[in-house]
Amino acid sequence: MRRLSLFFFSIIFVFSALNAQNHFRYPINYKIRLSGSFGELRKNHFHTGIDIKGSGNWKSNKAIAVMDGYISRIMVKPDGYGNALYINHPNGITSVYAHLNNFNKKITEIVRKIQYANKTWEINPDSLHIPVTKGEILGQIGNTGRSFGAHLHFELRNTTTEHPVNPFRFGIKPKDNIKPTLSMLKIVALDTAYNVLNSKKIRIQKSKKGNFFIYPSTIKYGAWRVGLEVLGFDKMSGAPNKNGIYSLLLKVNGEKVYQFKMDSLDFSKQNCLNAHIDNEEAKSNKKKYNRLYVLPGNNLDIYRVNTQKAIIPLYENKSSNVEIIAKDYDGNTSILKFKLKRDNKIIEPVPKLYNQHLSYGNKYFIKTFYYKLKIEKKDLFKDMFLFISKSENKKENDYSENISIFTNYEVFKNNVDLYIRPLVIDSLVDKICIVKIDDKKITNLGNDIVDGFFHTITKTGGTFRLMPDTIAPTIEPVNYKNKKTRYKKISFVIKDNFDTGGFAKEMSYNGYIDDKWVLFTYDKKKNRITHIFNKTLSKGKHQLKIVVIDDRGNKNVFEKDFWR
Ligand SMILES: [Zn+2]
Repeated sequence: MRRLSLFFFSIIFVFSALNAQNHFRYPINYKIRLSGSFGELRKNHFHTGIDIKGSGNWKSNKAIAVMDGYISRIMVKPDGYGNALYINHPNGITSVYAHLNNFNKKITEIVRKIQYANKTWEINPDSLHIPVTKGEILGQIGNTGRSFGAHLHFELRNTTTEHPVNPFRFGIKPKDNIKPTLSMLKIVALDTAYNVLNSKKIRIQKSKKGNFFIYPSTIKYGAWRVGLEVLGFDKMSGAPNKNGIYSLLLKVNGEKVYQFKMDSLDFSKQNCLNAHIDNEEAKSNKKKYNRLYVLPGNNLDIYRVNTQKAIIPLYENKSSNVEIIAKDYDGNTSILKFKLKRDNKIIEPVPKLYNQHLSYGNKYFIKTFYYKLKIEKKDLFKDMFLFISKSENKKENDYSENISIFTNYEVFKNNVDLYIRPLVIDSLVDKICIVKIDDKKITNLGNDIVDGFFHTITKTGGTFRLMPDTIAPTIEPVNYKNKKTRYKKISFVIKDNFDTGGFAKEMSYNGYIDDKWVLFTYDKKKNRITHIFNKTLSKGKHQLKIVVIDDRGNKNVFEKDFWR
């Protein structure tokens, strides 16, 4: 008996030791509430982590290491994740903490060394080995990078594949007893190449008991075959935020024909967001409708789908029973049931304006005297209809025609190659770039020169042309004093005339005191660079210099003395 219990004891001990090793704690020290869920539909990507809201005065909110491990990567950048840490754990999972306001003292010292050694604030070393223990404070949560309000963006990834996995699977989640909401249904008539012929939107209503329905409950639609799309969101207990839905399931006549589950994602397939959602609705109404069928070029791994049956054939005298089932991770479920029938009058397709039909599975190289457009097989989600036109520029300093590529709201799956012929070559040749013009915004897409054409890449249509950029970025002092300054820090606003995309490099900056490089942090949302004076800086006169350069080499220098 004694032996037996010892045996049991050791089994339990080993089991719990393993369990402890595999058990993540929360990455915060307060109650978890979410403003974003894993797999949520964002602009051009799926959300790869969870967004944990701050609590009370966020400046006291700390990010905490979820398990023993070592920091393998530290990221400091003006956009994206801002200040971020990557910790590899012995269970094969990497945890990521993004948009941090700052790092702890130990990490900050390492970051400063790397920044001064590389003479750049923006860093991303990825083969570090800095040990951390479970529960260690990593830094303050914050709002750095592409973030609009203090929160912790927390991710778990498979260390080997780098695929992000849903933190809910590891118990990092709030309790949740609120079921998802379904708000709009869209019926799209499709041809066999997934081209939308016409469509109809129907508001989904909610009964007093909280059940979802549409009225009337039988939809008669004048089409031979339709796909369905649905708009909805999921709230979680403790927060008002409308987050993404974990799983959507479509049943037709009792058979599962389409389902996705947001369990893990793949960074190399993030472009498929634009195929998962109805892009026209996203562009024209800012609504992200989930398609309940899969476009041929969408190779995401989140689906279980019967490609044939997810497109529903309609009959005049036989209705199909449709069920759309939305679930959250805790199994709270919302169901919409209705019937679909064919109306005896088939609706005419909405005419498309196009002069180039790109059929899925083919590649194209459209060549004219003024421009060329190269599209590979991998660049299409489905057939695409383009209307390409050129219009003459009338001004004297015009370097090309305006090339307009209209895409019916659709985007290419990958970047396609655009070439524009310069009509004038003069002394400004180095300053010329391909630009995209949207309303009043001009984006410099950079260029290389291939066979006498300027060349860049784009995923979207738009109006493109060649244009010189001869204007240097501006440098505006925020609190510069040439007299004795007691300020702890000094800031400048730096701005350039064009945004950047395609091949164009972002504006770069450097700051120097007495000709020695010094660290300026960069807050891109405020266009502001800031230097905190070193305590060892001697009293007396010093020379300050800021140099800013844009993609076309236009340079501005601010150079003045100051006294400490
Ligand atoms: Zn996030």
